[in-house]
Amino acid sequence: MKLITFTHGGTTRIGVVKGDAVVDLSTAAPDLPREMVAFLEAGDAALDVARAASDAASSTLALSDVHLESPLLRPPKILAVGLNYADHIAETGMDTPKHPMIFNKQSTSAHPPGDPFHAPRVSDKIDYEGELGVVIGKRCRHVPKERAAEVIAGYTVVNDATVRDWQMRVPTMTMGKSFDTHCPMGPWLMTADEVSDPHSLELKTWVNGELRQHSNTKHLIFNCFDLVEHLSTAFTLEPGDVIATGTPSGVGIGFKPRKFLVAGDVVRIAIDGIGEIENAVVTEPPETIYIG
Ligand code: ZN
Repeated sequence: MKLITFTHGGTTRIGVVKGDAVVDLSTAAPDLPREMVAFLEAGDAALDVARAASDAASSTLALSDVHLESPLLRPPKILAVGLNYADHIAETGMDTPKHPMIFNKQSTSAHPPGDPFHAPRVSDKIDYEGELGVVIGKRCRHVPKERAAEVIAGYTVVNDATVRDWQMRVPTMTMGKSFDTHCPMGPWLMTADEVSDPHSLELKTWVNGELRQHSNTKHLIFNCFDLVEHLSTAFTLEPGDVIATGTPSGVGIGFKPRKFLVAGDVVRIAIDGIGEIENAVVTEPPETIYIG
């Protein structure tokens, strides 16, 4: 199933995409939670109800008539991995990490799959990173990689947008990775049953139609299952947590001269078998200055 969070007629709820149509689960299965994290917390039974309801639905909305939101409006955690493709490590000139280089993006950076994201007023060093995102479906701890598939609800496409100077000027990446709007994702959560092998997916990123990144998730150094094992060694993973699995070569900072994003650029990221997201870049608007 392609599970979405969408807004239509002034309310936001979840649904299932079927071709060019959307089954609105708030009407097709009104007893289900209407928010994705709560829906995932309801477990396999809720997934079964959604699947049956979407198969039986007689009325649908047009996909083009709804506004897609981030599948997870506010993931409990957004975890990410640096330096997880050999070709990207080579372009950065760094050494291959012995352990997954984990960092967080703040959950408030989650952003819709088609909305513009911000070129911040404090920097002109904004970059893109096309990545496969893993979405956790079951609360878990100490998951061996052989069982990691059991806790994965599905997969999505992530742009780990990055403010490079803010990332590099201090030892931790938290600030440079967490600007508002800097985690576009979607267009949907592709449930794991429809992804036969998450480690053989073509990944491509274009900027203004120019192919910048082209790799395959088979090249991940620490794969999705390794990451679930590693992360859950330290802390509980929860339904709706997103793990951005790292980016291959071809990010803007890897070019000579560098190719940072400017307002007006359009970033499109596609992962075969999952979907694609496309986000323009806009100058951070005045409305981002507020208190209360
Ligand atoms: Zn990244």
